[in-house]
This record gives sequence, C-alpha cells and structure tokens, in this order.
Amino acid sequence: MSIHSVLVTGSSRGIGFGLVQKFLESDKVGLVIAASRPSATSELLTIKNKKLHLVTLDVTDDDSIVKAVEQVDQIVGSKGLTILVNNAGILQSYGFTDEPNRDVVNQTLDTNITSPMMMAQYFYPLLKRAADSQPGNTFSSSRAAIVNISSILGSIQLAQSSDNGIKKLLDYSVSKAGVNMVSRILSKDLEAYGIACTALHPGWVQTRMGGEHASITLEECVSKLAPSIMSLTQEQNGGFFDRELKAIPF
Ligand code: NDP
Repeated sequence: MSIHSVLVTGSSRGIGFGLVQKFLESDKVGLVIAASRPSATSELLTIKNKKLHLVTLDVTDDDSIVKAVEQVDQIVGSKGLTILVNNAGILQSYGFTDEPNRDVVNQTLDTNITSPMMMAQYFYPLLKRAADSQPGNTFSSSRAAIVNISSILGSIQLAQSSDNGIKKLLDYSVSKAGVNMVSRILSKDLEAYGIACTALHPGWVQTRMGGEHASITLEECVSKLAPSIMSLTQEQNGGFFDRELKAIPF
C-alpha cells in the first residue's frame, strides 16, 4: 500500500463523494476517511467497505475539527495521515451589483480560505507523523501532502469580469485566489517537515455547485482527479494545476 491514509472533507456529495469512491476502489490506498457535516444526508452511509471510516466534521467549527483530529488519530495510528484533501467549499453567487453583505462574503471566505488553513494547522501533527515515517527529503502524496481543491476562477492572471449580469462570482473567485496563496505559503512553511501542499482545479463539474450545465460529469472529473492526487511529487509542490496536473497560472 503506497498511501496509508486519505481524508476528504465535504464528502457527503459532489466531488468529495466521488473522490472517496475512487480512493476506496484504489489498491494504492489503505484507509479512506470521509469527513462530512453532521446534518449531511449522505450516500456514504450506504457504502460497505472496510477501508472506509466516517468522521463528522464542519470545517468552519474549531471544536468540530479538534474532535475530528482525535478520531482520525485513532484511525490512522502510528503511520499518521498521508493525504488531507480540503475539498469542502461553498459558492454563494455574490456579485458587485448585489446589496453589500459582509456576512455573506465572510462566510465564503471563512469556508473556502480560513478553513483549509485551520485544517492544515490542526491536522499538522498527523501529517508530520506520516512524513516522519518515511525519512528522506522527497515530497509526494505517498509520503505526506495537503491538497486544496481550488478553482480556475481563483487565477488572478486569467481573471474575467466576475459580474456581467449573469455571473456572480466575486466572493468565490477571491476565496479561491486566497486558497491558492494558502497552498503556496504552506508548501514553503511545511518544506522542512516533508509535507507537500498543492492546489488543484477539478474542472467545471456537474454537482450541486457546478450545476447541470457544467462541462464534465462527476465521473469524468474524479477519474482524473483522484489518480492525480495519488501521484503528486516535488514537481507539483506549491503549484496550481488542473485535474490532469497541467499547470494553471496563479
Ligand atoms: P457541492 O456543493 O456539490 O458539495 C460541497 C461539499 O462541501 C458538500 O459535501 C458540503 O457538505 C461540503 N461543505 C460545505 N460547507 C462545509 C462545511 N462548513 N463543513 C464541511 N463540509 C462543508 O460542491 P462540489 O462538489 O462541486 O465542490 C467541491 C469543491 O470543488 C469545492 O471546494 C468547490 O469550490 C470546488 N470546485 C467545484 C467546481 C465545480 O464545477 N463543481 C469547479 C471548481 C472548483 P453539506 O452536504 O453538509 O452541505
């Protein structure tokens, strides 16, 4: 087993749920920890697989994260947590021409930027344990890695008008640009500990967030995204890539 354990946040549906299914199918992965909010009505409960562990986690709630760390500690044991996938996210369709609403914007920033940052900090001891169990100076998703599910809308270089009357993606785009910076800085901060950090854009995917007119199905997304997450190396550390690991400008 080259990847001891993977934790996916926001796994009740959409891309998170699809990733959990792909990791369960993979011979490379030992333990799959599907984290989701308590209120989630989830298809996860119907999956019968010894590799699967369900954990309750609201990524915006520190108490919930601390409890999840304790549970995951028990599940992963001395080999630690190999991959943390910060997938949970929200899109609230907020645009410049809307009534100013600080709460809506802050909620998006809290879920999409602050929470991946907090998750990395709280889960750091378990990730470090995984990295320490494979000494050396290699960076890979087989050793220890944080993957932040970002969006091409967070690319400052590729930025388009976020509110042309149809699109209302101002807070969301800003949040994904922010999480890209989180990824880049963490890749530097964690370099000394052998933990990689990468931002990945999944594509425009048919989920509740992406909508039914999105360009690819969930299967088309996760059949590429999951293997990419499992094969990250030094080359991707600190970078921003699509689901097939083609580089995207920050
Ligand atoms: P969905 O809306 O289908 O699913 C979002 C998931 O995030 C749900 O499981 C939801 O849980 C969970 N979630 C939201 N807030 C929290 C929270 N506070 N704590 C824990 N879980 C939470 O979205 P997608 O699957 O499409 O998106 C997944 C990720 O991919 C997001 O980060 C998104 O920004 C990104 N992405 C998606 C694209 C797309 O086209 N779909 C394009 C680019 C990026 P619950 O069921 O409890 O609400």
